[in-house]
Amino acid sequence: MRISFDLDEVLFVDPNTFEIEDPPRFPLDRIYRERLRKGTVRLIRTLQEEEFEAWVYTSSFRSEKYIRSLFRCYGIRFDGIINAQRHLREVQKGHGHLLPQKVPGYYHIDLHVDDEDVIHQYGKQYGFKTCKVCEPDPDWVEKVLDQARRVRDLTESDRADKKQES
Ligand SMILES: [Mg+2]
Repeated sequence: MRISFDLDEVLFVDPNTFEIEDPPRFPLDRIYRERLRKGTVRLIRTLQEEEFEAWVYTSSFRSEKYIRSLFRCYGIRFDGIINAQRHLREVQKGHGHLLPQKVPGYYHIDLHVDDEDVIHQYGKQYGFKTCKVCEPDPDWVEKVLDQARRVRDLTESDRADKKQES
């Protein structure tokens, strides 16, 4: 099971309006200026303990190295990172028309967490599952965990059905 996270407005939030994780110590707090939504560390850790793969899928151009190093300050190691460069190189390339800015299915991602409505519309249109997280929400960790577990249960019972049919 693979679950991916958008960065801006989902894991990276404005400290003036959101509760945040404690920033890393000086000088790392100056190098990595983004602040993490409170609960990010617990959420990613719990998912990985339950054997979900946690990925980043961002349409920003931050480098993979930067994203990895930033999250390392919080003890988080993602299983995969897709940024705009990688998406353009691997997903968009060779297509004359513009594809959605995120195509989680291409990476076998079972659930994608995002704040943007357009991504949820694409999910319906292109058949990938999404979870919406945007405003400050004290229950967001539980909400994402619930949905991730539900998707896992559905997929497992789907597989069992197919096995019985064959
Ligand atoms: Mg976003």
